[in-house]
Amino acid sequence: MPYLSCNHPIAKNIPKKDTQQIIKAITEHWTANNIFCPICWSSLDKHKIDRPINDLFCIDCNNDFELKASKWKFTKMLPAGNYQKAIDTITNKPMHLFVLKYSEDYTVTNFLVVPKYFFTSEIVKKRPNALKDRPNYFMSDINFSNIPESWKIHYISNWTYKTRTEILKEWEKIKFLEKEKASSKGWIFDIMICIEKLNKNEFHLKELNIFIDELSYKHPENNNIEPKIRQQLQLLRNKWYLEFIDWKWNYRVL
Ligand SMILES: [Zn+2]
Repeated sequence: MPYLSCNHPIAKNIPKKDTQQIIKAITEHWTANNIFCPICWSSLDKHKIDRPINDLFCIDCNNDFELKASKWKFTKMLPAGNYQKAIDTITNKPMHLFVLKYSEDYTVTNFLVVPKYFFTSEIVKKRPNALKDRPNYFMSDINFSNIPESWKIHYISNWTYKTRTEILKEWEKIKFLEKEKASSKGWIFDIMICIEKLNKNEFHLKELNIFIDELSYKHPENNNIEPKIRQQLQLLRNKWYLEFIDWKWNYRVL
């Protein structure tokens, strides 16, 4: 069982009162030693120069990973630091996101990765008030509840470790989104979320009609929501995310 000890030698030079830095150092260390790259299966390493983000990278394919660790359950919002910096990173150099959750006794209970191609400026929410002493400095959060469940690829879920094959299968399933244009991703995400809200593995096209009002509100420029839903389902079918059960508009999530 992995153990994130506060007395870990990796944190020995960090002042005891700087809890956040200690947690950052030991969770990065733990991740580099226990988690493999979901893209090429190779090992991860910590960046030598300490940067506020860009915590880890793959020693083979060089992909960067940002790690967020917390004792709390990630249900809604994840702190994303300065708003402008978060938007710049997402626009210019998005990174895959690791999320680590640990328990009271510093055991890792959950670990997941969200691929970088999910991140669009839309999911970063600017906090309403600027910092007290810096009127133009706004903090931000990532709206974690807006991320479809199928985008959260779990390595560890409630203390249960997934096999390498399971993790890679999940990664492969959504990899097609890497190639999608930012402009078309919004609709794909929305339809994926609608399908998840149905909370069933098989569904009929008409069942998605309950989301028409919600989708019209979100996409006021579109007057043809029903054909748009059909078009997105077709796209998800072409990408092997869904399949037809029959030719009567019954679908199955793969
Ligand atoms: Zn890699």
